[in-house]
Amino acid sequence: MKCSQCGKGPVLANRIHISRSHVSRRSKRRQKPNVSKRRLNIGGVIQTLCICTKCVRTIAKQLRG
Ligand SMILES: [Zn+2]
Repeated sequence: MKCSQCGKGPVLANRIHISRSHVSRRSKRRQKPNVSKRRLNIGGVIQTLCICTKCVRTIAKQLRG
């Protein structure tokens, strides 16, 4: 799922396999951003957005002024 505010989406990362305290094998894994569906009041209009927690904080800060 993508953030509708900043467009942040899943990225590829390495899954590491550890044996005898060193990395023996790497495989691809998807790392998802912390995106949640939220109802936000932006300029008096209540919108439902798929938004990441970072953007939620940014918007909350803007609304406080
Ligand atoms: Zn975002």
